[in-house]
Amino acid sequence: MSRRRLRRGLALVLTLACGLLLPLACARPAPSGPAPPPGSGAEPASPSEPPAPGAGQPSPPAGGGPAAPPPVPPGGAQAGIPCPLDGVPAPPNRVDQVALAVVLDNHSAARPQAGLSSACLVYEFPVEGGMTRLLAFFLHAEAAVVGPVRSARDYMLDPCLETGAILCHIGGSPQAYERLARVKVRSLDDMKGAGAYYRVSYRRPPHNLYTATSALRQAAAARGWARRSAGAAWGLAPGPAVSPATGGEPAATISLRYPGPGEPYLGYRYDPQAGVFLRLVSGEPQIDAANGQAVSVANLVVLRTVVTPIAGDPEGRLRVQMVGEGEALLFRGGQVFKGRWSKAAPALPTRLSGPAGQLVLGPGPTWVEVVPEEAVVQWR
Ligand SMILES: [Zn+2]
Repeated sequence: MSRRRLRRGLALVLTLACGLLLPLACARPAPSGPAPPPGSGAEPASPSEPPAPGAGQPSPPAGGGPAAPPPVPPGGAQAGIPCPLDGVPAPPNRVDQVALAVVLDNHSAARPQAGLSSACLVYEFPVEGGMTRLLAFFLHAEAAVVGPVRSARDYMLDPCLETGAILCHIGGSPQAYERLARVKVRSLDDMKGAGAYYRVSYRRPPHNLYTATSALRQAAAARGWARRSAGAAWGLAPGPAVSPATGGEPAATISLRYPGPGEPYLGYRYDPQAGVFLRLVSGEPQIDAANGQAVSVANLVVLRTVVTPIAGDPEGRLRVQMVGEGEALLFRGGQVFKGRWSKAAPALPTRLSGPAGQLVLGPGPTWVEVVPEEAVVQWR
């Protein structure tokens, strides 16, 4: 079954579920009215304004962006080359462009986020306050609405260095700005006039900054950043399509909890027909507010690493070790494969290895959960 067909099916099922069973859990914030021009910095007219009735067909921000590339043909894959981030076949002009890495809010007031079902790759990172934040990478698929966008942390730069992606964000921690000043990561920062973001009125700040991949690409092109950086290679890029992986343990349901009071428990539930895991937040499927589709995951990678508070940081910000090695889990095809992750330097690939050699990812979206060593991860 193609990914598009799968998405349509999931969207249908979940749309029905939203209408019948889950009106609150599935409430969509998708923008429908005219949005302010990107980068206008307009404040919401009324922070308490409810979502517009009939929302659900999000519009890109006024001002748009460059002409959208042609859509991926139905069935996707017949005419295309594998996207370097997720192995999904796509037209060459789609994959031969720079990846965008957007920092997304994961506060309860920010969910459901928009754009996640179009991401090739998503990292989930712990941040201060016992919460997490997402870093969503977009390459072969465009997303007309992406957000809410938040500030960056220094450890988010490692996967950007690894992939050559442009970091898309509003502001950052002092450590993030210090690091941005000395490493080769391109940044589209709304605090510095990136000109690609807009605020919506149906959510309160700071959970109301949105963008579109077309607007980000337009801003990148204006800076001469349209091309993929040479040599960028993500270590967790999928291998050649293979028959269902063998050698793992069954893992049809997964539960994961970051330490901290602000986080819900996360779950992933395997759909054997579709061959993907559905991501669950507090037991409910995570929905992409931009299109109503469920967020599905072909490869779930758990990286255990050292997470410690930064000494003297007034906000309790964290140091997250992204270079080095540690325990890793790869969930794929309804199984789990245990191994280790390693990364020799910030710009070098992250590698996964198991007892029998490299752990290979399959084509499709990958989520990487960067968890503290004490995080509880269970499966059955
Ligand atoms: Zn992709």
